[in-house]
Amino acid sequence: MNIAQRLAEIRERMAVAARRAGRKPEEIALMAVSKTHPAAAILEAVAAGQTLFGENRVQEFAGKRDEVAGALAAAKVKFHLIGHLQSNKAAKAVELFDGVDSVDSLRLAERLNEAAERLGKRLDVLVEINVGGEAAKSGLGPESDELYKLLDAQARLTHLTIAGCMTVPPFTEEPEGARGYFRELRELRERLRVRSGLALAELSMGMSHDFEVAIEEGSTCVRVGTAIFGARDYPAPYKEPRQ
Ligand SMILES: *Cc1c(COP(=O)(O)O)cnc(C)c1O
Repeated sequence: MNIAQRLAEIRERMAVAARRAGRKPEEIALMAVSKTHPAAAILEAVAAGQTLFGENRVQEFAGKRDEVAGALAAAKVKFHLIGHLQSNKAAKAVELFDGVDSVDSLRLAERLNEAAERLGKRLDVLVEINVGGEAAKSGLGPESDELYKLLDAQARLTHLTIAGCMTVPPFTEEPEGARGYFRELRELRERLRVRSGLALAELSMGMSHDFEVAIEEGSTCVRVGTAIFGARDYPAPYKEPRQ
């Protein structure tokens, strides 16, 4: 199967999962995660109608962006950063990306806000939550002081819109194993909504092997890499790159 066929198949599976959960398929966005794959793969997906992409490293995307710029301007394609970002790269990230879905500290939010103000941009961000409390993963603790501080700071983060929450749950062999974590994020989002007065409409959760479960649990954006672009070719042993 080529990229267009895989995209069509995933969209179909998303629609089936949505209907099973009594939801409308158009409520759920498909983000194609193109990290480690070449610009040519992105262009192939754009040609198949895909408009939302996720990349996890500023440096890597900076290298690809020029190659895809022309096609992107014509097709209104958007790129979000979904990987951990160091505060000192915030300005570069704001320049390159349409959204940052992996905000995991107040300091980073402040840096992104400053950079967005300087560039005259408004940036949509998601707060990344470490639902499994795993030491190797980034994200704020579900009931952490820092999470509350970040939401309390919204009024002075004038160039950011905190649009919702994102999570990468602990890996489980069976997709069903992720259900409890997805549910936990949805319930946390409800509590944060009440507490902060923000809409927090976005729930970014679900990847190649568990996106259907995530949709059943309320996901508004599934981030799918492998099932669209094929396996990522990392030198083993692979660790998610930190930046
Ligand atoms: C790589 C990545 C994905 C996509 O994972 P697949 O299993 O390839 O679908 C989704 N979200 C984040 C944050 C990622 O880093």
